[in-house]
Amino acid sequence: MRENSNINKALAYYIGYSTDDLIRYKASSGGIGTSIIKYLLSTSEYDTSMTFVYDKEKCGYIPKLIYDFNEINICGSVYQDIDIFSFLKENISSIKNGIIVTCMPCQVQGIRSVLDRNNINNFIISFCCSGQTTLEGTWLCYRYMGIDKSQVINMQYRGNGWPSGIQIELFDGKKIYKNKFSIAKRFFYL
Ligand SMILES: Cc1cc2nc3c(=O)[nH]c(=O)nc-3n(C[C@H](O)[C@H](O)[C@H](O)COP(=O)(O)OP(=O)(O)OC[C@H]3O[C@@H](n4cnc5c(N)ncnc54)[C@H](O)[C@@H]3O)c2cc1C
Repeated sequence: MRENSNINKALAYYIGYSTDDLIRYKASSGGIGTSIIKYLLSTSEYDTSMTFVYDKEKCGYIPKLIYDFNEINICGSVYQDIDIFSFLKENISSIKNGIIVTCMPCQVQGIRSVLDRNNINNFIISFCCSGQTTLEGTWLCYRYMGIDKSQVINMQYRGNGWPSGIQIELFDGKKIYKNKFSIAKRFFYL
């Protein structure tokens, strides 16, 4: 590592939460990430960010570029492998002005390098992460809960209150809830 480098050195630590009640309720852990995205999108430096939407066919979350805060889907933490690097590379021409990206700590370097190489101003928000599961991990959860994955039209691991838990919505309108200390805790750090 280069001497005097800022790598692995925090410049400062702050604790915060969103003062917007709805954002705080819907977000993972206080909504600071969502609030930073909202603020940055209101500035002239950033016209693009990203969100995650549940894809029924894939039975998992997919990333989506957004250009306005109203397009955001506040769905809490997504514990599924998402290849944000390839997504941004494939959609580089759709990025307008600067972009705000959220990603796992291990994804930051590659994402920053592809955005820098394309002269795209970027603000990267990363989070505490003790590991990621694959999409199949979510499907395994359904199996242990006795749920047929083809019937799932939406799911969330976090958000909608604290500490929250797995929220699954089925095609027939049934809603299933398991708190985070029950089934999911056996498989994931949530
Ligand atoms: C894979 C994973 C592992 C985690 N491990 C830990 C842990 O070990 N310890 C701990 O304390 N907390 C962990 N978390 C929780 C994480 O720290 C919280 O998401 C964070 O506190 C953000 O809280 P917030 O209220 O600001 O979130 P929000 O305001 O909801 O903002 C979070 C932002 O992150 C985005 N996001 C969610 N999931 C992903 C994803 N997979 N990839 C990219 N962007 C995403 C959301 O779209 C949103 O924009 C983990 C989260 C994830 C996704």
